Amino acid sequence: MIVEFLGTPDCSLDALWCVFLVGHLAFAGDRLVPINKLHYFLHWLYGKYEPQVLMIVDWILRKKLMTETVFGRAVLTGIATASHYLPHGIVVPTQSAINLVRYIDSLKGEEDSLKLAVGPCVCQMSLNRWKEPSCKDIVVLYGAEIYLHLNRGYRIIDAEEATAILEQCRDAGLVHCLDFCMQSGRWHFVICNCDKEICVLVRTFLVTGKMIYAGPLIVKQDRNRCLGPDVCGACVSICIFKANSIRGESIHLDSTRCYGCGQCVRVCRGNAREMIRRARYEKEHVIPSRLLGVD
Ligand code: SF4
Ligand code: SF4
Repeated sequence: MIVEFLGTPDCSLDALWCVFLVGHLAFAGDRLVPINKLHYFLHWLYGKYEPQVLMIVDWILRKKLMTETVFGRAVLTGIATASHYLPHGIVVPTQSAINLVRYIDSLKGEEDSLKLAVGPCVCQMSLNRWKEPSCKDIVVLYGAEIYLHLNRGYRIIDAEEATAILEQCRDAGLVHCLDFCMQSGRWHFVICNCDKEICVLVRTFLVTGKMIYAGPLIVKQDRNRCLGPDVCGACVSICIFKANSIRGESIHLDSTRCYGCGQCVRVCRGNAREMIRRARYEKEHVIPSRLLGVD
């Protein structure tokens, strides 16, 4: 039945390969755990057809009827809500993403267990809209196995190279998203580096407010140090979540819109910003804040 559903002979062989191979590892807080074959197979199936899913969502997001009318936005919000168990992301600053990469790399698994790989941004590849850096999807553990096997140009990397990629993405103004399925840390499979022009997850979030969660950190601004919009204003243009705006001669920070990416801290010329612990981090059960270096 699975073979009939998947259609082509190549596809069927892939499916059999992923069902019968054992030893897939997932991230489970403070250890690596083996996952069952159904878990692996379902995620492999998603990975296989992810480009088609992204193309459909991109097509919808480019229709003004869907993004600029009450009706369209309501439909999109309904679709995003129904996608509760598909990939969602937690926003973190670069140092937190680096901490997680190092933590995953240090976890004990089977001798040859795969920890990290990198490949072309699945959104850029699916939509054929390229922008550098483009080789920036850092897949982890069983996610690395799946995407390596899908033959989309992924390669194994170590924690040092992953760190360098994250820093390169930070310097390009991208936002790190820790993506997971099924609302579970065991389904954490990739660290994406997102923008607001191409990334389908971020663009969906910007219309619906769904599919992206705030990380454990939030920005704090010292008004006395801020140079103001006429001299600086860098925090306004860098924030893809529109948390900063100009009000008269000063900068207004809307903390409810801060998802904790840390980009405004990086570009702040007045040294007026820092990341502090968020009062309530809702995804502690998915990726614990201590693994992100947040005490
Ligand atoms: S306010 Fe700063 S830290 Fe918060 S989401 Fe915007 S750029 Fe990121
Ligand atoms: S980036 Fe910093 S100094 Fe510049 S306007 Fe924003 S808070 Fe002020």
